[in-house]
Amino acid sequence: MLFPVFPRSFPMQRTFILLKPDTVQRRLMGQIVARFEAKGLNFIAMKMLRITPELAKQHYAEHVEKAWYPTLEGFITGGPVLAAVVEGLDAIRVVREMLGATSGLQAAPGTIRGDYSSSQQMNLVHGSDGPEAVDREIALYFDEDQICRYEPVITPWMRAADEG
Ligand code: ADP
Ligand code: MG
Repeated sequence: MLFPVFPRSFPMQRTFILLKPDTVQRRLMGQIVARFEAKGLNFIAMKMLRITPELAKQHYAEHVEKAWYPTLEGFITGGPVLAAVVEGLDAIRVVREMLGATSGLQAAPGTIRGDYSSSQQMNLVHGSDGPEAVDREIALYFDEDQICRYEPVITPWMRAADEG
């Protein structure tokens, strides 16, 4: 008889995602939110806003000195965005892998950028790249009392109970 082997358990994590202005303008918000939901991630905070140049410099602090930063700032402040916090198992890595490589032309088919983007800059979605970035970025966009944690009733049908 074959028994399933579940080699490791994964940490429950929050991560921060930002649907950039190209997603909003191209009316892809629904399709992209649906992909994260279908994967099993819980949306626990969401808001639309217009990013100011000041917020852009904080969000992209690691890139402010790059030659291409001014064009990135113009893009990210150029229309409304949808900021969100999602929660799930290994969510930081899972979201980054769902996004794909930075350039839409190099991102693998099946990833969000690979399926919808042909641009290095207009790549639709940001996802935090590690735990420190998650804490820093959530604090830039949300107060803790705007985060709505809940236990989804669907959990028993998303993953076997003995997988840990
Ligand atoms: P990622 O979002 O995959 O972590 P980076 O941290 O390298 O990518 O870059 C941050 C964002 O800056 C990218 O998602 C993209 O929107 C933009 N960007 C990256 N490289 C360039 C570039 N050469 N020119 C313009 N914008 C860029
Ligand atoms: Mg990055």
